[in-house]
Amino acid sequence: MGFEGQSIVRGLAADRRRRQRTTLAPIHDLDYRAWMAQEASREERWRALLDGDDPRLSKPRPLFKHIPSPPRCKLCCAPFGRPGSLILGPMGYRAWSKNPTLCDACVRSLGNKGLGGAEIELSFLFADVRGSTTIAEQVGPSAFTTLLNRFYDAVSRAVIDNDGLVDKFVGDEVVAFFVPAFSPAYAAAAVAAARESLDVTGHGDPAGPWIPVGIGVHTGVAFVGSVGSEGGGVADFTALGDPVNVTARLASEAGPGEILITESTVVASGLSTVALERRELNLRGRQERIVVFVDRVGSSLSGPTR
Ligand SMILES: [Zn+2]
Repeated sequence: MGFEGQSIVRGLAADRRRRQRTTLAPIHDLDYRAWMAQEASREERWRALLDGDDPRLSKPRPLFKHIPSPPRCKLCCAPFGRPGSLILGPMGYRAWSKNPTLCDACVRSLGNKGLGGAEIELSFLFADVRGSTTIAEQVGPSAFTTLLNRFYDAVSRAVIDNDGLVDKFVGDEVVAFFVPAFSPAYAAAAVAAARESLDVTGHGDPAGPWIPVGIGVHTGVAFVGSVGSEGGGVADFTALGDPVNVTARLASEAGPGEILITESTVVASGLSTVALERRELNLRGRQERIVVFVDRVGSSLSGPTR
């Protein structure tokens, strides 16, 4: 903990002492200080992990991501499905009972029951099936479910190929994020994953895509970590904050075959926007208009500097 952290802890402890004199239920100062110190070191551990300064977790990922089969640990990519799980499970890479999206090994390295996180800059990708209601009506529920599963699978692979973390599937949407630890060029990786997602869903095919997809890519500061109750309830490893909402709205504004890329992503990725259409959007619930660049399969691009 740095000097600033220590002085914050001291300040809060003094504050607590002052309040203690006026409250009925005394809180033991030592316990509180220990708790604060624990919280600070927990955040440091998470920050080191997410920024890539803790090689323990990021090291196995390049190997694990190639071992079948999903579902996987969101952090180290250890497979919880067979056959990989038969070898890696006994080595400690089995799904954590409180949060089956992380493995026991990752949770152990993070300590404090694996809960906690840190605010970092990262990139988000939301891939959304366009016109899904109409498609569902046309093909029927069971064919639509098959189609959706194929979509989840294709986009997840594009995300994992580019060292992103598949956060969740929400309705007809894949939510993913890219943190410096696993993709040092996280913004460029998110753009690459978005392009690959359009490619694998057939947006480059002359016959057209097998499922129409629109994508939003945004970069900003958000809280990333494992949230849940200390009491042992189910936790989730996820990202929270304003950039998540912005990216979700971008994805809903993107037409079929479009990737809407925010200025912050352009800056962070070094993407050339010369060949891209510039568009201004009014996002619901927001005062100022947001500037995005529209990328499509086959638009002549100078790629991001990766
Ligand atoms: Zn893991």
